[in-house]
Amino acid sequence: MAQASQASDVPYRGRFAPSPTGPLHAGSLLAAFGSWLLARAAGGQWLVRIEDVDRPREVPGAAEAQLATLSAFGLESDLPVVRQSEREPLYRAALERLLEAGLAFPCSCSRSDLAAAGGVHRRCVAAAPRPRPAVRLRVADGSQVAFEDGLQGRFAQDVDREVGDFVLLRADGFWAYQLAVVVDDAEQGVTDVVRGADLLDSTPRQILLQRALGLPTPRYLHLPLLLDASGHKLSKSSAALPVDPADPLPALRHCWTLLGQDPAPLRGEKRLDALLWRAISHFDRARLPARLHFHQPLTTTSPDMSE
Ligand code: GLU
Repeated sequence: MAQASQASDVPYRGRFAPSPTGPLHAGSLLAAFGSWLLARAAGGQWLVRIEDVDRPREVPGAAEAQLATLSAFGLESDLPVVRQSEREPLYRAALERLLEAGLAFPCSCSRSDLAAAGGVHRRCVAAAPRPRPAVRLRVADGSQVAFEDGLQGRFAQDVDREVGDFVLLRADGFWAYQLAVVVDDAEQGVTDVVRGADLLDSTPRQILLQRALGLPTPRYLHLPLLLDASGHKLSKSSAALPVDPADPLPALRHCWTLLGQDPAPLRGEKRLDALLWRAISHFDRARLPARLHFHQPLTTTSPDMSE
């Protein structure tokens, strides 16, 4: 694979990588603001990448709406926004390397073929070959991956037993998230992945793929996830209310407080740019809450911290 075309000598490069499946909601704003704060407080760069490989789940216009919302919140990418739908050759090259090295293999197993094994693929059990098979990464027996999350601490997973050989190219021809994210984080020179805790258990798969491709492993930090009142993840594609781009300050203050930060320095600040500057200078990483989720009613109304 090509070396990072946008690699930089900055010690910190973070990113926010939404999938365009709906408008940004409070949960995605929390991840965007958290990753932006960590990058800015480290004197680093922050990138935005649109993860639009899953075309069937894409909502037309959602990517533009997400970018407009981020801008309205003052969260701007330091480099041109990258779209995964335009990066097919990078994913193809990575897949070919894995196939040539015997680390990936075509597979015709369907979900129902794998149901008896709890969905975990260890060997092909397909009744018949498909005209267009998927491609999976071969996960060797005993593949335990452990890493130190910047907030959640040590996380370990037996990828062979818990996940199995996982899909890199889907049978419907679309690239799998796991491959695209690993290729892009490396190609863009990302040093620090900060995202929601729903992706904590994807990280061992991504580390295995980095090892298979000979790519560096970035640092990872998983922020708590916002759950709705009934305990479900706020989802861009469900009924989650979008955040209001016309009124960014209350939502930013709310996220700031959820990130464990002292509300006082942002109180009373009425200008967006000034509020963001204050946020950078008062951000204290040690106050981030080491928890996996918050229960959050579906509202964007901020607690009264605005006076
Ligand atoms: N595109 C993913 C999402 O919107 C995030 C991927 C990542 O941050 O690694 O949930």
